[in-house]
Amino acid sequence: MDHLWAPWRMQYVTGEKAEGCVFCAAPGMPEDAGAHVLYRGEHNYVILNRFPYNSGHLMVVPYEHMRDFAALSPAQLAEMMDLAQAVIEAYKVCLRPEGVNLGMNLGQAAGAGIDDHVHLHLVPRWCGDTNFTTTVGDTRVVPQSLEDCAALVGSALREVMARRRAGA
Ligand SMILES: [Zn+2]
Repeated sequence: MDHLWAPWRMQYVTGEKAEGCVFCAAPGMPEDAGAHVLYRGEHNYVILNRFPYNSGHLMVVPYEHMRDFAALSPAQLAEMMDLAQAVIEAYKVCLRPEGVNLGMNLGQAAGAGIDDHVHLHLVPRWCGDTNFTTTVGDTRVVPQSLEDCAALVGSALREVMARRRAGA
C-alpha cells in the first residue's frame, strides 16, 4: 500500500503541464481537452486521475487553491465527503470494486505530487491488484481507456448525485 499514490505518477501530470496549478486549471478546461471533470459541485469537483492507479481512480478537489487541509471550511469539507460517498455509490453501480481506498497525501513527505492544492483520492480496489502493481511498477496497464472510464463513472456519479439532491 506504500505505493498507492506514489509521487512518480503525479510527476507525469505536473511534467506535461505549463505553469500554474493543474487543479485550479482543470475545472475551466473545455470538455474536449481531456481533463475528465466528471462532476461539478458547489465547492468541489470530481476529476478522473489521468495516470490512474486503477480504473476509476478519481479525485475530489476544492475549487479554492488551498494547501492546508485544516483550513477547509465546514461547507467545503462537508461537500467533499458528500461527493466521496457518492463516488463510492457510483463505483458500486458501474465498477463493482471489492474495496475502495480513500485518502489524502498532505505534503511532499507524505507522497503528494501536487502538495499546494489539497485533493482527496478515491481508488477502487480488487483483490490481488497490489500484487500485480508490485510486479509491473509504473508500466501498469489499466484495462479500460480513460474516456470509457470517465463516461461510465461520470454518468453513474451524476445519477447518484441527482438522487442525493432529491433526498431519495
Ligand atoms: Zn490550485
